Amino acid sequence: MSGFNPTLNMKERAQVALNDDFLRNAVKFTTEKLRFGKKNASSELGNWEEWRERARAIRLHTIANLDYYLSEFVKNARAKGTHVHFAATAQEAVEITMKIMAAKEAKSVVKSKSMVSEELHINHALEEEGIETIETDLGEYIIQLAGETPSHIIIPAIHKNKQQVADLFSEAGGETLPPDTKVLAGFARAKLREKFLQADVGMTGCNFAIAETGSMVLFSNEGNARMVSTVPKTQITYMGMERIIPSLDDLEVMATMLPRSATGQKLTVYMSAITGPRRTEDADGPEEMHIIIIDNGRSQQLGDPEFQEVLNCIRCGACLNACPVYRHVGGHAYGWVYSGPIGAVLTPRLNQDMEKWGEVAYASSLCGACYEACPVKIPLHDMLVYIRRQKVEQGYTPAAEKMAFKGFKYVMSDYKRFKRSIKLGKFGQKFIAEDGVITSKIGPLKGWNTYRHAPTVANQSFRDSWEALDNDLHREMAGMDPDIMKRMKEILAKRGKTDHE
Ligand code: SF4
Repeated sequence: MSGFNPTLNMKERAQVALNDDFLRNAVKFTTEKLRFGKKNASSELGNWEEWRERARAIRLHTIANLDYYLSEFVKNARAKGTHVHFAATAQEAVEITMKIMAAKEAKSVVKSKSMVSEELHINHALEEEGIETIETDLGEYIIQLAGETPSHIIIPAIHKNKQQVADLFSEAGGETLPPDTKVLAGFARAKLREKFLQADVGMTGCNFAIAETGSMVLFSNEGNARMVSTVPKTQITYMGMERIIPSLDDLEVMATMLPRSATGQKLTVYMSAITGPRRTEDADGPEEMHIIIIDNGRSQQLGDPEFQEVLNCIRCGACLNACPVYRHVGGHAYGWVYSGPIGAVLTPRLNQDMEKWGEVAYASSLCGACYEACPVKIPLHDMLVYIRRQKVEQGYTPAAEKMAFKGFKYVMSDYKRFKRSIKLGKFGQKFIAEDGVITSKIGPLKGWNTYRHAPTVANQSFRDSWEALDNDLHREMAGMDPDIMKRMKEILAKRGKTDHE
């Protein structure tokens, strides 16, 4: 299941996305809307930078003391009757899930949106065992029917239009539905309600886990997460091991930052804090509750000075909306669960496979817009540079790129060589330049010139202009006081020597 051809590399996947006009327009339209929403919501709040600092401090402190807060959470969750499991890998998390399913003789599952569950490919594993698995978040339901993966952390079906959704729902319902939002939402609502009532198990993700109370917190806009976590008799929650926050006070800060950064809302429509299974005095809730805490590469980031901060991420998606690369190609070009700048860091780091995934770190202009957008100030652009460096150090650089950089170093490390190469460039460009720009798509020029034109080497370089300026200055100096002129000559001689050394 995917939204892309898994045999393609990152460049080829990006090309597929660039050729899809609808996808580009849809992603652009929605990310613009989300960005403006965030801008308004954050300026309305006031002191946004102070809030960012506060949120960052909470995340830094929690991750620096993750062992302590995790054990506090586990102790308090177990005291409230929750079964807590640990999974070192995605495979282990799947095995734990299957044991619970078998013990409950479960035949059907309803799920609310959970990015960590995408890491496990849990839907596929459940379907293989003959267990019906239904996504109940509207966007997730759409992409499940389409047989795809999410293309945005917050808006999984960002790349689909109403007609495409109507086609998918028509096929699922066996009737022709119009591309009308109300009709389509009504169809999904009716279909999903049946499933909520029949399901043996409800599965959720976890936005935050509160150490001091042992509660897990869910943010949602559709109410489906509440249905998933209250109607079925058994609940399974997947939680990345970094989701912890120390206390309810910290939740106040996160509840302020997450919805504003994600969708520009002051608060999501529903926020549920669930502490253990149903008690006798409760009106609803599951009879049995399991939380599976998943590592899957996260602990590898702990203690790494370049990457530990990536665990601070609260999965708001703001960096995707700000990224000029994501906004052109959408999520499927990145090839795994997470996309955009956070995906470009998490994908190689969580998979610990630089050969396969290192190329994803090049899906960035390193402009730093992701850092500016991030509510917890993760320096993603620095991390992307570190990943590129690791890729080179581990020897996964293409031979042509290695040669190109060797040549660049050879030319740039000697002024005379540099000057000669400029002359050569001026001569060579005569054959490929037109009206002051290079339009040729030969060899390495293809990637750049397919979508824009490269400028030609200037007739007069900056150094030539500088030297001409020096000559003008000398002429002016001819009429000056001899002492001043002598001093200026000394300065110029010294500078000229340094320049040309
Ligand atoms: S890196 Fe920052 S902006 Fe991106 S999803 Fe995580 S918290 Fe949000």
